[in-house]
Amino acid sequence: MVIPNWITFVDKIRSLYQECKEIRDGQVATYIPQLARMSPDLWAVSLCTVDGQRASFGDVKNHFCVQSVSKAFNYAIVASDLGADVVHSYVGQEPSGRLFNEICLDSTNKPHNPMVNSGAIVITSLIKNKINMADRFDYVLNQYRKIAGNEYIGFNNATFLSERATADRNYALSYFMKENRCFPKETESLTDALDFYFQLCSVEVTCESLAVMASTLANGGVCPITNETCVAPNPCRDVLSLMYSCGMYDASGQFSFNVGLPAKSGVSGAMIVVVPNVMGICLFSPPLDTLGNSCRGVAFCKSFFQKLVSTFNFHNYDCL
Ligand code: GLU
Repeated sequence: MVIPNWITFVDKIRSLYQECKEIRDGQVATYIPQLARMSPDLWAVSLCTVDGQRASFGDVKNHFCVQSVSKAFNYAIVASDLGADVVHSYVGQEPSGRLFNEICLDSTNKPHNPMVNSGAIVITSLIKNKINMADRFDYVLNQYRKIAGNEYIGFNNATFLSERATADRNYALSYFMKENRCFPKETESLTDALDFYFQLCSVEVTCESLAVMASTLANGGVCPITNETCVAPNPCRDVLSLMYSCGMYDASGQFSFNVGLPAKSGVSGAMIVVVPNVMGICLFSPPLDTLGNSCRGVAFCKSFFQKLVSTFNFHNYDCL
């Protein structure tokens, strides 16, 4: 078993969950009504180890949209399909040091990385781009289901419609990228490309199903619940590297310094953290800090790794 003292471990997680429940910082995202209406009290933690042990606390059955957490999985899916060389001929690997939705490219006129909007929109445009939009959407949803071990994956159409209706920035960004020839030749319609990107932001999960998705990344791309290979080994490694350096918006450097693990957050208050070869964790709590990360999620990770690090040695460089 990867975590020998399971009962003690779960007790510690429970008390950290309770501690973080008291946090009242942050604001729920308000740019679309579907996010603005989310209760700031929602708080859930779920984990799934690479040998399939599960623990869940709080509102773990609530449905919520993955938002930017989709960026990690979309990259893993397309890199498994096309290989890193093809994917990175379109998108770099460098933290941008800029806002996640800023209208800018790197010095070679490519998006900085797949975790910012520019890179994520181009990544989405690479997914199965020789087939029709409906089949492309089905394909990604099926891949998500496999990665989630067939646990809950849904779609929130209201969120999709709102995202699309408030998309000026993403449109501006995409036209800028079109001018700079960032898209593959198959991308004929920016409207289709952006719709697909918004649809994937609007995929729904629960804290439990997203924890399984994170555990698949912790397990080298093999889902611990079904034993099915969903992400090829190298793309799995690569997405973790990108999450480590770029996954937490403009707090990515701080987070990897303090916590030492790959993570990805989204504006819905969703967050995944991967302990390679050990487990995937999903944290969900809508109030966000000024950089866009879940306040309770980040606080949980900091205490988790400060308090449990001596016992469990989870930080990437703890073995030194
Ligand atoms: N739907 C958002 C956008 O593209 C993503 C928000 C997020 O970062 O989670 O602007």
